[in-house]
Amino acid sequence: MTAPDSKSDKPNLYDMNRDEIATLLKTWGEPVYRARQIVEWMYKHKAASIEDMTTLPKSLRERLAADEQFSSDGQTIKRLFKLPDGQLIESVLMEYDDGRRTACISTQAGCAMGCVFCATGQMGFARNLTSGEIVEQAVQFARELEAQGDRLSNVVLMGMGEPLHNYDHTLHAIRILNDPDGLGIGQRHITMSTVGLVPGIRRFADEGLQAGLAVSLHAATDEERSKLLPINQRYPIADLIEAVKYYIEKTGRRVTFEWALIRGENDTPEQGRQLGMLLRGLLCHVNMIPLNPTGGYDGAPSDPARVAAFQAELEHYRVSSTVRVRRGIDIQAGCGQLKAAVIAKKAVAAEKTARRRGPERAR
Ligand code: SAH
Ligand code: SF4
Repeated sequence: MTAPDSKSDKPNLYDMNRDEIATLLKTWGEPVYRARQIVEWMYKHKAASIEDMTTLPKSLRERLAADEQFSSDGQTIKRLFKLPDGQLIESVLMEYDDGRRTACISTQAGCAMGCVFCATGQMGFARNLTSGEIVEQAVQFARELEAQGDRLSNVVLMGMGEPLHNYDHTLHAIRILNDPDGLGIGQRHITMSTVGLVPGIRRFADEGLQAGLAVSLHAATDEERSKLLPINQRYPIADLIEAVKYYIEKTGRRVTFEWALIRGENDTPEQGRQLGMLLRGLLCHVNMIPLNPTGGYDGAPSDPARVAAFQAELEHYRVSSTVRVRRGIDIQAGCGQLKAAVIAKKAVAAEKTARRRGPERAR
């Protein structure tokens, strides 16, 4: 069994850039050029274990293996990763017809933001992921893709958790993903999605990166948004839009607004009009997706006629938008639903086992 804190006291190689690995090696009296070799094994060859790094002397491999938790123990249930302390996180690989291969990865186990329709929000917060744990999710997909002669082209931080609530680890992870010695994913091919933590957005704008920003808006008035996203009470829409403008000013990049279409809630022509007025003239795009039903929320997805009328309102204000197709919806929109499903399945299995054994042994 793994002790709950076993992860935290062992460094993870994916947490470190080349210089940091070199520093570690120096303290061991190893030549610094080994750091380059290690990094090449990690990201170029995507070695699955330290043992596979065959150009390193055996003694160094043994030392690294003893000191490192190289990987999330390889237990993957359909992109559900089990971390050594037992936390489950999920990542999704999306393959598009135009050749893009996008990894949707998590930044936290659970989430503290409590958005009412979100499966992760319904679970509550467990812990922040380390930057290594964030990076590894993408490396895992990159490794699988390369084995098929393909490559990972994009990363979106849109899985479980709120990236700006785990700011430092998220930023370090973005830099490693982007590093030519790391996965070498272009900054413009990395997108971070936030529920709208205003100070975090401003700080992110000041990083001098070209990474994409997606903001989960979901409602155009404070009253409606606060009902769906409690964090809106702290950072209301006007402040959020100011921060987004600042991001656009600093990066010159078009910002995406996410909108989960909920029947009768935020898909009315009136909401469409309000959204149009809010966003008109802004360098932005609205990404709509019919709500994914979750266990803890009784809202339903909008029907197509409603969606079309809503989109027409946006067009009127010249706000561009797309409606995402519900393709493989259960895992695509992800966000905690895979983990929720596995837990539910386990609960059912446990119940069946209990029934077989008889009530006296049921727990
Ligand atoms: N915490 C960040 C990133 C993870 S959530 C954020 O909130 O932006 C990724 C996206 O999935 C967000 O836009 C979120 O609002 C959306 N989402 C969560 N639950 C959903 C559901 N049940 N149906 C549709 N979209 C959902
Ligand atoms: Fe957290 Fe994002 Fe889910 Fe809201 S939508 S609870 S911020 S993961």
